[in-house]
Amino acid sequence: DAHKETMGFQTEVKQLLNLMINSLYSNKEIFLRELVSNAADAADKLRFEALSDDKLYEDDATLQINVDFDADARTVTVSDNGIGMTRQEVIENIGTIARSGTKAFFGKLTGDEAKDSQLIGQFGVGFYSAFIVADKVTLKTRRAGESADLGVIWESAGEGEFTIETIELPKRGTEITLHLREGEDEFLNGWRLRNIISKYSDHINLPIVMRKEPVPDEEGKVDDSVIEFETVNKATALWTLSKNDISDEQYNEFYKQVAHDFEDPLTWSHNKVEGNIEYTSLLYIPSRAPFDLWDRDRMHGIKLYVKRVFIMEDSEQLMPRYLRFIRGVIDTNDLPLNVSREILQSSKTIDTIRAASVKKVLSELTKMAENSPEQYSKFWQEFGQVIKEGPGEDFANKETLAKLIRFASTESGNAEQTVSLADYVSRMQEKQDKIYYITAESFAAAKNSPHLEVFRKKGIEVLLLTDRVDEWLVNSLTDFDGKHLQSVAKGDLDLGELEDEDEKKAHEAVEKDFEGLVERVKTTLGDKVKEVRITHRLTDSPACLVADHYDMSGNLERMLKAAGQ
Ligand code: ADP
Ligand code: MG
Repeated sequence: DAHKETMGFQTEVKQLLNLMINSLYSNKEIFLRELVSNAADAADKLRFEALSDDKLYEDDATLQINVDFDADARTVTVSDNGIGMTRQEVIENIGTIARSGTKAFFGKLTGDEAKDSQLIGQFGVGFYSAFIVADKVTLKTRRAGESADLGVIWESAGEGEFTIETIELPKRGTEITLHLREGEDEFLNGWRLRNIISKYSDHINLPIVMRKEPVPDEEGKVDDSVIEFETVNKATALWTLSKNDISDEQYNEFYKQVAHDFEDPLTWSHNKVEGNIEYTSLLYIPSRAPFDLWDRDRMHGIKLYVKRVFIMEDSEQLMPRYLRFIRGVIDTNDLPLNVSREILQSSKTIDTIRAASVKKVLSELTKMAENSPEQYSKFWQEFGQVIKEGPGEDFANKETLAKLIRFASTESGNAEQTVSLADYVSRMQEKQDKIYYITAESFAAAKNSPHLEVFRKKGIEVLLLTDRVDEWLVNSLTDFDGKHLQSVAKGDLDLGELEDEDEKKAHEAVEKDFEGLVERVKTTLGDKVKEVRITHRLTDSPACLVADHYDMSGNLERMLKAAGQ
């Protein structure tokens, strides 16, 4: 129904608004980037829905974004003829933060403005950034395909509540008017606005249109009887240009658009592939893990375009899960425009593009690991745990992945994961034929484990595996460079050639001496243990627990129990 309602923002929105206004003020011009990017998304969504229902265009198929200002009213307006919103959608999208990772985000806030503004940047600022410069925002919208009397007007001063009312709106799409705060008059200037647009939104894939600035005639008079419009951005998709024509800054700004990120990416890979299948990919590796890295329902990933038309944003079909942090676009000429998710799932074209894109990302990482180890270690800190899911998921690239993985080890003795399997192998002792590791629930537990005593004595390096994912990793990554990965806490500790004849004889003698004791311990413990053995792996501790070769490790068992299994 049409009645006017006043509603409260979700508590989180209020908090976010406060934070945003305070900590992003020094970068306030980004509000325009956010609103333009929403308008572009809305156009993309309309284009996509109209593929199956072109009545949605309502005889107005020229999608564009308008930016305008009114110096007297002190307003800046951004409007689009995209998909628009229903009343319910406005309430859901603009009054709440339904985004995943919200809780993690609020948990990390410190109250320190500099730190928090970084965090907000990572979280993504979006629509609410309008309130950095505006003390009132009016949004009018009507969804494509709905009748004119189902328009919606939403208004808020950004202080905890908003009003919403149904109105008549002949034009579909969304118009957002910012009533500028005192002192923000710099935005009531066509050149300033053009400048911001070309800085952040040049390569938005549709025209951003503004009123032409009036040119005074020879007498200095301005004729304002005719209003003319002009496109103020390049309106070409960045990825279609040749690499040589794109500056690093343009790559960085484009990344912020597609990834909803604030920071520059770590690096990118831009490829034009011609041949059997034609496509262009522009793939970015972010500098920082997003808040929802561990959320299975996360949505931002790779944007798929067909012939420069946005089709959908989907991470699963275009990147494996262990590369879910990769951002960017893939644009191909070899899929139909009306491609659906179902078609994607069984498309050979997509399989080929995906396999090649994964190779590109991995080779980019390999290059980074070789040429800029410092950058790579930054990458590893952020995304290492996710990469460790790789060998279990992506058999074809297991070897490449094995080279990319880093561990903590007894060699450095600190928790930082810097040791590659190749490093380890290069330090192996002459007669050593296995790569030894231990898994534990913490670095301290791993480092102080009694299982390491004999290795310490013999000066053999042991990898210290303490991430949750490590148990799964060692299940799929069982060999490297022809050497078996061996847990030091499992089965009979067979040091093979590392044990000399004298040691073996001494061990046998000890085992004989203590036969009686072993029998007594076995009887006492009964069903509680599978076996009792004399051990040679300890030098200081009297006893330790060992898992059988094919059993779960003690650490995995602990984790499963903690997870309620
Ligand atoms: P995000 O763009 O990351 O989703 P925003 O805060 O920028 O977050 O926007 C929130 C939501 O509001 C969008 O996802 C979209 O559903 C809706 N929205 C915002 N602006 C528009 C617009 N111009 N047209 C249609 N929907 C919009
Ligand atoms: Mg947005």
